[in-house]
Amino acid sequence: MQWRPSIIRTNCLAIESDIGVILIDTGPSIKSPQKTGTNKFYQNLKLKANRPSPLSRRLATLDIDTDSVKHIVLTHLDLAQTQAIEEFPNATAHVFGSEYIAAMAPATQREKNRYAHLKNLNSHPRWKVHQVQGSQWFGFDAIQIFEELGDHIQLIPLVGHTWGHCGVSIKKGQDNWIFHTGDAFFHQRELRLANPNAPWRIKLARYLATADQDSFFFNQERIRKLIQDKPSQIELQCSRFDPKY
Ligand SMILES: [Zn+2]
Repeated sequence: MQWRPSIIRTNCLAIESDIGVILIDTGPSIKSPQKTGTNKFYQNLKLKANRPSPLSRRLATLDIDTDSVKHIVLTHLDLAQTQAIEEFPNATAHVFGSEYIAAMAPATQREKNRYAHLKNLNSHPRWKVHQVQGSQWFGFDAIQIFEELGDHIQLIPLVGHTWGHCGVSIKKGQDNWIFHTGDAFFHQRELRLANPNAPWRIKLARYLATADQDSFFFNQERIRKLIQDKPSQIELQCSRFDPKY
């Protein structure tokens, strides 16, 4: 399997594989970028949101045609991760079961608002919903998404930001991995082992966007320990920022 990561706002990845191009998250769409929901809230807080370039245009610079995208693995179903889904008509969208239920049968008005953008999609994606299978990856539950690819691409449940939020592990060598942790972190300083922190605006946004605060911080700590234990084996990615800088 060849893999070719490309950081695209909202830090998405594109992977060329034997079963076609696989995306990790999609970012906002060309037609209606950042109009609703969380992003509007971010703008109101005057955060410097990284305005994304449309994913399909970025893929074109990598000579990847949108029709060649066969699968989209979603860390979760917030607007920033899902809005461009319909630009990839040949793709199946893969999501963790708890997230699918939270989005398709929202239990509260807050969650109805959070996932309202999914109802506005002009075409409905083909969903494939995944459940925990009993596999493990460095002590985390791990869901092998594609039978053909084994443990090369796995959903790693990291519940907290949303009820079914996941990371995605991508094997890039014999014992080396990219770990895309989605919105498990909002700011570089949250990665610190000692006194993890973030600017107050980020903390407020994070608090308001978090479904389960205890699980969110529990999983942050688990990820920090993993990075500490396996620094040469794990390359961390986050939706909101580049952990290397
Ligand atoms: Zn999110």
